Amino acid sequence: MFLRELTAGVASVRGVGPSMTGALAGAGIHSVAALLTRYPRDWEDRGRFAPLKDWMKGPVSTTVIVLAHDWFGFGPMKTLKIHVEDKTGRAVLVCFNRPFLEKQFPVGKSFRIWGRFYYKYGELQSSAFEAENLEPRSGKSAIVPVYPLSAGLSQNMLRRFIRAALDQYAPSLEDELPAEVMAGEGCLPKQEALRGIHFPASMEVLDRARKTLIFEELFYLEVIVGRRALERRRNISPPRPGTGSPGALSPLQKQFLDRLPFPLTPGQTRAIAGINADMAGPAPMARLLQGDVGSGKTLVAFFAALRALGAQSDHADAGQIAAQFDHADAGQIAIMAPTELLARQHAENAARLLEPLGLRPAYLTGNLKAAGRARLLKALAAGEIDIVLGTHALFSKDVAYRNLALVIIDEQHRFGVTQRQAILAKGRESPRGSAPHLLMMSATPIPRTLALTVFGDLDVSVINDMPPGRKPVKTHLSKESNVGKVYDFVRKELEAGRQAYFVYPLIGENGEDAGEGSGGGNRELKDAVSMAEKLAGEIFPSYPVALIHSKIDDEEKRKTMEAFRRGEIRVLAATSVVEVGVDVPNASCMVIHHAEHFGLSALHQLRGRVGRGSSQAYCFLIYSEEDSRPVLTDNGKQRLKVMLESGDGFVIAEEDLKLRGPGQIAGLEQSGYLKLGIADPVRDADALVRSRTAAFAMLEADPGLLFPEHLCVAQVLNRAPPFTETGM
Ligand code: ADP
Ligand code: MG
Repeated sequence: MFLRELTAGVASVRGVGPSMTGALAGAGIHSVAALLTRYPRDWEDRGRFAPLKDWMKGPVSTTVIVLAHDWFGFGPMKTLKIHVEDKTGRAVLVCFNRPFLEKQFPVGKSFRIWGRFYYKYGELQSSAFEAENLEPRSGKSAIVPVYPLSAGLSQNMLRRFIRAALDQYAPSLEDELPAEVMAGEGCLPKQEALRGIHFPASMEVLDRARKTLIFEELFYLEVIVGRRALERRRNISPPRPGTGSPGALSPLQKQFLDRLPFPLTPGQTRAIAGINADMAGPAPMARLLQGDVGSGKTLVAFFAALRALGAQSDHADAGQIAAQFDHADAGQIAIMAPTELLARQHAENAARLLEPLGLRPAYLTGNLKAAGRARLLKALAAGEIDIVLGTHALFSKDVAYRNLALVIIDEQHRFGVTQRQAILAKGRESPRGSAPHLLMMSATPIPRTLALTVFGDLDVSVINDMPPGRKPVKTHLSKESNVGKVYDFVRKELEAGRQAYFVYPLIGENGEDAGEGSGGGNRELKDAVSMAEKLAGEIFPSYPVALIHSKIDDEEKRKTMEAFRRGEIRVLAATSVVEVGVDVPNASCMVIHHAEHFGLSALHQLRGRVGRGSSQAYCFLIYSEEDSRPVLTDNGKQRLKVMLESGDGFVIAEEDLKLRGPGQIAGLEQSGYLKLGIADPVRDADALVRSRTAAFAMLEADPGLLFPEHLCVAQVLNRAPPFTETGM
């Protein structure tokens, strides 16, 4: 039988009495399978020697002799203290609720102890120690499991129960992984793996047991993920005869392509083909478009919009291009961006590029005056607007669509699950609509390890090339005291006609945190408001300087950005509001002050604001110092190092995840998105990739392959992960 089939209650394990089933249930352990998958959180090598004098280095593991007993407290609170010594020092064992130890360890007796010690009341003490008589333990391994405990359970109980369960049930357990996969991975048979994880005979066995169970768990995870992906792919019908391949450009898209002043990159072409194929199928598209900053995702989004709009004109032949789409029937498209700045930029691009094709775009901002807003909403509900661009305003209560066919979410990682759901719901609610197609875009790439697990059942397009002529941004690290040299450098670029961004962690002098990306809370930090004055007055007096941050009103922000785009403003002092999406190809310098205060993904995004044209671009990461000593934390240092060494968003995202550590994964877990028992998709990334290959190969050979999902340790819930704006 398989482990997951051991659904018998824990009471069937020898030695687990009725009083114990309650305690086990309290820890979520109801079945024998659950008991056996209560994996240890650690293992103690009792063959190891760590004397009392080394108590600071970790758990002590030594042989002691009892010197004396003594008691403190009164009545039921009366507590035994056992004074002991080994060859290196003396200590006190505080025996809360263990008065019986007095008899087991009389004065003069020697025994082994394990546990962490600390100094308290002038004594070296331990209350969480374990002790064992010195009688030889024939046949028993020196490696002992340490379990996560909960109320009413002790280490010894769990060890006893699990050992009993193994003796009773392990012999009948079958292997679950296919034999060739097990052989390829060097997996232990299931029985041995379970014994090995709980009571390993050696560290080598423990290692193999862990690897086996981790691989198996990831394998199940990928079977679940893979089955969903295959299901959706199967739902996509084969191309209709005579209509060419499903990925081919629609007439509207062709027309759009012809008007572009440059060819698409291969990555863009592939992404568009994938999107077209999705939209030709019966199931709604669910696609994630990943491409580094500057790779040209916006254009791909517009191609997707043209396809959704012209969906009904699938069969139109070339002669019918003039009547490419029937407005009355056409699907509507919503493009949502996380900031007003970015939404407006998209709206301007849509007006410039799509209006000439006969589309009717509109920009819906939260700042619209009542009358204008009412008019716009009416037009939207009547289907008189084809493509609407905006921020969260797009799913406000009073917004209704006639036929929302495609939702595009730019910088998707900045939106929460509920926000994505809210905009999709607008599609289902629209009178002519059904479940809309969804295209999510991200320039902060989901690290590959996560993409494989959490996003494993989305279709993913990756634009892995840049428009031709781009040169990688040259990145320099500079101390605050050397900032003069940076100014000199930027001045030369300005003289050559280029533009520059200066980014600060704070908005104003009062130390108002600029939010996104900054660590905040430091009096010594430079702020955008006062530095804008300084840049204009002292540093670059002959160039127009402007200021932009989140507290500036929308209309003024727009004017400033437009002037910057037109080159009338040459230097922009900013907070990280310019972090996402802003596209001004003539800007060649990005200077980030107090760079150590920004998270990796923010730094990468900020750097991505330059290097969008054909001239060489530069990024200066300026870090603070105190008494000429840099005040970098290790983590801050590491982030800047990663920025210096890599320009690849995927590498940076992966490093980011490592630096932020398992907390990030734990966050995913807590939110119920991904639950794993022993595997960690980041730590075990290699095993994850191999398990995925194996699982997908098996599924392709046997799509009916079934694993009862509810019994797997790994669970993936079918919703987007809770990536929120962390500010890092
Ligand atoms: P991102 O992927 O960061 O959103 P954008 O869509 O803002 O990138 O594109 C960055 C810049 O590259 C824009 O100025 C855009 O016009 C330009 N661009 C996009 N595609 C191409 C292409 N195939 N060839 C040349 N330039 C392109
Ligand atoms: Mg973009």
